[in-house]
Amino acid sequence: MLENKVALVTGAGRGIGKAIALRLAQEKAIVIVNYNGSREKAMETVAEINTVYNMKSSGPLAGSQQAQAYQCDISDDEQCGKMIQDIIKTYGHLDILVNNAGITRDNLIMKMSDEEFDAVYETNLKGVFHTIHHASRQFLKQRSGRIINISSVSGIIGNAGQANYSAAKAGVIGLTKSVARELASRGITANVIAPGMIETDMTNALSEAVKENMLSQIPLGRIGRPEEIAGAVAFLASDEASYITGQVLAIDGGMTM
Ligand code: NAP
Repeated sequence: MLENKVALVTGAGRGIGKAIALRLAQEKAIVIVNYNGSREKAMETVAEINTVYNMKSSGPLAGSQQAQAYQCDISDDEQCGKMIQDIIKTYGHLDILVNNAGITRDNLIMKMSDEEFDAVYETNLKGVFHTIHHASRQFLKQRSGRIINISSVSGIIGNAGQANYSAAKAGVIGLTKSVARELASRGITANVIAPGMIETDMTNALSEAVKENMLSQIPLGRIGRPEEIAGAVAFLASDEASYITGQVLAIDGGMTM
């Protein structure tokens, strides 16, 4: 149970982020549902948590809603700094940081523009740096904190047409391991989850041919569900995972084994 823990989940209005937010709320955490463009979807996630799971805490947070939406473009360092500060001002602490937000701008390397490379790098890698950079001061002060970064199997084995995405997601793994080493002495853990093919808007946008080809590489023979990622996030955020840091957990139906 994550009672009275405050969790920030980036990109939590839809897809994997939404499933993570709902699951952490189910474990009784207070959840900040970050979004960038999808305000309505974020509001829906918040409403779902506040109606279905709302278990109002006793103590200093009594009466507060269990979830709150927060607009912030994670590629913007200043906005990330303000978001983290606002959370700490409101709740007094931040315990779990889930860097889930991400984008794709797929193209063959020969055709890939600087803009396509930079957009993915700015959101998928620098965005993760920004939130950790700002949250780490609070984590160090608290001598506690859980960082869970969502990378991808593309960051481990690469993927044709995703040089920008794979580079950024591999960067997330290196960033996480360095942060894990840097913060370990204060009891702070940092881990990576590398999903395979999970059913969301991101994969729905792929052509049937690409989907079929990916499916043929999955030993379990099916696409994953967002809830299957969320369960692992809840575990890594829990006390049971207190001795796990700097690890990469692939949740991919066996794709990368
Ligand atoms: P999705 O359905 O496309 O959702 C992407 C989420 O990221 C949205 O909530 C979006 O928020 C948010 N986001 C994008 N840019 C943002 C920004 N600048 N600031 C804040 N939020 C931003 O994607 P998904 O499939 O759920 O993917 C979630 C994560 O898992 C990503 O990091 C992705 O790379 C990773 N992943 C997914 C798969 C898969 O098969 N689906 C596989 C491996 C890894 P708004 O809509 O509000 O802009």
